[in-house]
Amino acid sequence: MRDENCIFCKIVAGEIPSRTLFEDEDFKVMLDVGPAAKGHALIVPKAHYTDIYELPSELAGEAMKLAKRMATHMTTVLGCDGFNILQNNGVEAGQTVFHYHMHLIPRYKDGNEMILWKANQFSDAEMDELAEKLKV
Ligand code: AMP
Ligand code: ZN
Repeated sequence: MRDENCIFCKIVAGEIPSRTLFEDEDFKVMLDVGPAAKGHALIVPKAHYTDIYELPSELAGEAMKLAKRMATHMTTVLGCDGFNILQNNGVEAGQTVFHYHMHLIPRYKDGNEMILWKANQFSDAEMDELAEKLKV
């Protein structure tokens, strides 16, 4: 499960260096080269899956367990004041590397300003319709 043109596949194969924080059979955790904050790391499955839609459910579960473990450890070591765990799928959602990964971003009281979305407003009717349509 490798994509020859994928930078994360090359990192997993050891062809491009990375600062590895954790590694097992299924995952690599490494520092992000363009960190949003000190300690920003990425959880990367070793097999190539483009995004959340391709990622098998079992690996998705394992990735979240690993995120909890890493966030707990990183918070202790870094003494950060908050923590974002996020994950982008598709260009429109900000994905730039098309090999699934999860961002682990420590946040600090006096750190970089966080960029948040602007809240939208939809009518009650639209919200009701959406809720109905999206029920699983
Ligand atoms: P995304 O925009 O969610 O696809 O995130 C891609 C992330 O990968 C960005 O935060 C980049 O800084 C990071 N990145 C790109 N190339 C490398 C690399 N060679 N080693 C570590 N992180 C990288
Ligand atoms: Zn890949």
